[in-house]
Amino acid sequence: MTKIHATALLVAASPILASTAQAEEVNLYSYRQPELVAPLVEAFTEATGIDVNVAFLEQGMVERLKAEGMRSPADLVLTVDIARLSAIVDAGVTQAVDDAVLEESVPANLRDPEGHWWALTTRARIVYASKERVGPEEVTTYEDLADPKWEGRICMRSGTHPYNVALTAAYLHHHGEEATKTWLTGLKNNLARKPQGNDRAQVRAIWASECDLSIGNTYYLGKMLADPEQKEWADSVNPVFPVFEEGGAHVNVSGIAMTKAAPNRENAIKFMEFMVSPEAQEIYAEVNYEYPVAPGAEPAPLVAGWGDFTVDPVDLAELAALRPDALRLVEEVDFDG
Ligand code: FE
Repeated sequence: MTKIHATALLVAASPILASTAQAEEVNLYSYRQPELVAPLVEAFTEATGIDVNVAFLEQGMVERLKAEGMRSPADLVLTVDIARLSAIVDAGVTQAVDDAVLEESVPANLRDPEGHWWALTTRARIVYASKERVGPEEVTTYEDLADPKWEGRICMRSGTHPYNVALTAAYLHHHGEEATKTWLTGLKNNLARKPQGNDRAQVRAIWASECDLSIGNTYYLGKMLADPEQKEWADSVNPVFPVFEEGGAHVNVSGIAMTKAAPNRENAIKFMEFMVSPEAQEIYAEVNYEYPVAPGAEPAPLVAGWGDFTVDPVDLAELAALRPDALRLVEEVDFDG
C-alpha cells in the first residue's frame, strides 16, 4: 500500500523513525508537488512491494537535512533546478551513487560527475513569441535577443531568478564575461517593462499587447493550455526554441539525489533505477509537460508537438559552478532596475 505522509504528520508522529531497518520502504523529501509524485510512487510500490513515504516540503530542505544529519529518515530528495540540486550537494548532505543503470539512462552532461545528483527530466528555457506580431523565423538565437530591433518588446521575470541565472550561466559558458555583460545590457534595454512576475505573467503580457516576446520554461505552455483562465494567453503565442550560436537550446532539470544518511539505501537505489525506466520517465515527464532524459522514453504528444530541438550540450554541473558569476553580472548591469 502506498503511503504519502504530509510533512506535519511525519514530524509529529515520526512514523519513519519508528520503523525498523527490515521494513520494505523508502523515504523521500520532495520539493515537487504531490500530483507529480503520486503516480510514480504508486507505480513503484505496485511493481516492487516497497512502500514510499513522502514528506512534501516547500522550503528548508537543506537546513532540515543538515539538522537531522546521519539520523535523517530521508533516503532521497526530489527537486528542480541545478541551483537547488547543487545547493543540497554543496551542503554535504548527499552521497555519491555509482550505478550502471543510472549511468546508462542519464546522459553524462545531465548528472553530477561524482554521482551526487541525477537529472530525471529536462525543460527548455525558450522564447514565447506573439503569433500576431512576430514572424515564424524572426527569433533563432539567444544572442539575437539583445539586438536593438527588439527594443521595448521583451518581457521577463527577474534576472536574479534561478531560471534566468542558469540561462545567463549558459551564456557565460559560451561567450565569456565581457560578452555576457554586453548581452545582459542589450537585453535589459529591450525590455518593455521592469522585470516582474513569473514566467506565465510574461505570456499574459504578450496576450495583453504589452510586449511581443518573453522568455520562459517550456512546461508552462502545457500548464497554461490546461488552465481555462490562461488558455487564451497560451493561444496568443508560439513556442520558439532559440539556440546559442555555437550550441543548442538551454535546458534545466528536475533531479534526484541520495542523502548521506539513507537508512534504506538498497530500496533507494531501486527507486532511482525505477525513475529512469522508460515507464516512469514517461509518467514523470508527462504530468508536468517536461522531457524525459532516458533514451527510448518519449515526451507526451502535446509536448512533442512543440517540435524537435537541439539541446545545448553543455555540462549542467559546469553551469552550476558558473551561477555565482552569472548572478554577479546580472547585478552589475542592474538588470531588474
Ligand atoms: Fe517553474
